[in-house]
Amino acid sequence: MAFATRPAFSAMADSAVRLKPGRERSVLQRHPWLFSGAIAGVDGSPGMGDTVEVLDARGLWLARGAFSPNSQIRVRLWTWDRDEPVDDGFFARRLGRSIDRRRLLLVSGEADACREVHAESDGLPGVIVDRYASFRAVQLLSAGAERWRQAIVEALAARADVDGIYERSDVSVRELEGLPQRTGRLWGDEPPAATVIQEAGLRYQVDIRTGQKTGFYLDQREHRRLARQGMDGAEVLNAFAYTGGFTVAALQGGARSVLSIDSSAEALEMGRANVVLNGLSAEACQWTVADAFAELRRLRDRAARFDVILLDPPRFAATAAQADRAARGYKDINLLAFKLLRPGGRLFTFSCSGGISPELFEKIVAGAALDAQVQAAILRWLGQPSDHPVVLNFPEGRYLKGLICQRLA
Ligand code: SAH
Repeated sequence: MAFATRPAFSAMADSAVRLKPGRERSVLQRHPWLFSGAIAGVDGSPGMGDTVEVLDARGLWLARGAFSPNSQIRVRLWTWDRDEPVDDGFFARRLGRSIDRRRLLLVSGEADACREVHAESDGLPGVIVDRYASFRAVQLLSAGAERWRQAIVEALAARADVDGIYERSDVSVRELEGLPQRTGRLWGDEPPAATVIQEAGLRYQVDIRTGQKTGFYLDQREHRRLARQGMDGAEVLNAFAYTGGFTVAALQGGARSVLSIDSSAEALEMGRANVVLNGLSAEACQWTVADAFAELRRLRDRAARFDVILLDPPRFAATAAQADRAARGYKDINLLAFKLLRPGGRLFTFSCSGGISPELFEKIVAGAALDAQVQAAILRWLGQPSDHPVVLNFPEGRYLKGLICQRLA
């Protein structure tokens, strides 16, 4: 080993974790998570989010990361470069690099909203930054991210195009880290109740302070664009519609009518506003506040039929352990959707459950078509957009998948 001839490590942190023999493999492969079971012992007494050196069983330096005493993911790695300190400059550099990677997306003037930092996949475990025009919504999901909140906010605030930064750390994963949920203004202006963003010539209102996630489903941007095609005169059903992202896209594409279903009345209210904001026909829209599972059944019982159906449910399974129950949920709604689809009609169906692989999702959808006694073809496989990248050493970052299916008969 080349490392063996070097000094054990040049400690930049006061504390270190020593791995059990043979457990350095994932670290060497640059996987950013170190589970508690891999750790033989801790030297020093690192606090929540403190930086620790990671050493193999022989004491050789491997990486540097953030200690999280309460989480099964005991250390999230910041760097594999022994000369790179974890300090304010580190966060400014990583943020800058991550944001620069998005330039291609924004330069075209296509959108002024995107995910600027996608946590582990951008070298900043636990840190999410979403851009909504001149505002930024931030989620700090891990002990390490929390420890460096000041540095992260200052680095973001220093950017020329930022008027306000708002925290949306109201997510349950923080509890696994022993952190309370938190929301509020972090810097600059408080975002208004509705921030207007641009996306491929359409405009959407986003409630950064209380909307779902950080306000908008940025990860569906490219699919909203796809959903504008082939819509001429279509009767559309948008289930799990949220603030009408797909509704507006379908109308812009020429849809004759769109029925949008969601369990959240506030989300659909903003959906109505989004239709008006784009000068599209409010009369073409119907908004139903309901449980989509029950409503799809009701529509089936009434023998309703649609030319295009969009199914974009919330996450049913975060992990593979919950996959069974989630699979039943996906099967159920996709089966109903196939029955509601006219021959020749298209189904846009999605899963954002990390615990359901693309292969399994495809199987579930195939099973649903079979049980619905419908012949269908996959026209397209869909996934994450470029601002939600999946870094190759962190496959866990892959969560969104979708299919465009066509009912043949
Ligand atoms: N397609 C949307 C995002 C959908 S997110 C977009 O592109 O913006 C999932 C949505 O499902 C959320 O709006 C949530 O309120 C809604 N939802 C969750 N459970 C539901 C249920 N059982 N019935 C109907 N809607 C539900």
